[in-house]
Amino acid sequence: MSNIIKYSKELKLFESKIKDAENIIIVPHYNPDGDAIGSALALCLVLRNAGKNASVISPTQYPSFLFWMPGRKYLTSLGKKTESNPDIFKDADMLIGVDFNALNRIKNVSDRFNNSDAYKILIDHHPNPEDFTDLLFSETSYCSTAGLLFEIIENTYLKQYLDKDIASCLYTGIMTDTGSFSFNSSNPNTFRIVSELLKLGIEKDIIYDRVYNSFTMDRMRFMGHVMLNRMVIIPELKTGYIYITAQDRKDFKEKFGDTENFVNFPLSVKGIIFAAIFIQRDNFVKISLRSKGSFSVNEFSAKYFNGGGHINAAGGESFGSLQETIEKFVESLQDYKSILKNYNY
Ligand code: 5GP
Ligand code: MN
Repeated sequence: MSNIIKYSKELKLFESKIKDAENIIIVPHYNPDGDAIGSALALCLVLRNAGKNASVISPTQYPSFLFWMPGRKYLTSLGKKTESNPDIFKDADMLIGVDFNALNRIKNVSDRFNNSDAYKILIDHHPNPEDFTDLLFSETSYCSTAGLLFEIIENTYLKQYLDKDIASCLYTGIMTDTGSFSFNSSNPNTFRIVSELLKLGIEKDIIYDRVYNSFTMDRMRFMGHVMLNRMVIIPELKTGYIYITAQDRKDFKEKFGDTENFVNFPLSVKGIIFAAIFIQRDNFVKISLRSKGSFSVNEFSAKYFNGGGHINAAGGESFGSLQETIEKFVESLQDYKSILKNYNY
């Protein structure tokens, strides 16, 4: 059920610090997903309704299936503009990080975040948060940062400023971080929160449509190519992986966010409980891992690829070639041979 009760001291401090603050900048992790952007924009909007000068600075661009989101005009994506904007946090008296647990998850702005004199808050649901803020809300029992954020708002004076736009941003975070309630959503409290968001007037079917039915034709064909030519299934280890070359990305005119969700395809094959994707980026290989049940992909990612994340969804990076990375992955599977072979889900 809800764990917000554990945070009564933090909630009081949060409320008084927010009341004192004027210029607040919210920062999601780099390559932000629906939860990072949904949480950041929801917080921005509720703070603006409360009279604060709030804005969002995303370290990098965000996927086009979120371009409809309320409050996006208050969001700046840095990306290539990082170097030409050295003073991004200069006027902030408060910085709030959402949906990340370690400074390196905000990559290009981590030094500036860390060195800023502003009061710093972190709101997140990943395990093992680093200690780099003045105030920390970190609860893995929430399906999403958006769910946790809803309860923070609900338990402070900010509650009166909730509205349909804010609820739509929060719902997007919850929906995307639970794969539309297909995982990570067995806590009844998740559905209590959704019920409150529905009362605020969200149009959940339209939000689903905006997020999941907004692909380009190129992306659909990319998906077909990947399933047909780039998916390898190792049935005896209940594992499947996908790889994407730089040429594939070019051939299918990849846009930011196009490969989101590809990692889940192998999990739709009967019996597969562990899935990976390896994407050749410009100077590294991006790795995403997914699993069903108790197989910890965050541990796997930390052990072999210096990454992290949640038990069933994690990521990492490899600086070897695509081929080397795949070979390392396949070798690493041998360490888990008996676990995977005997795994029941
Ligand atoms: P995705 O595979 O969608 O990029 O990320 C899945 C989860 O793993 C997210 O919760 C994200 O925070 C985490 N994650 C992704 N990439 C990395 C990484 O390189 N390092 C760490 N520590 N976590 C990551
Ligand atoms: Mn999240």
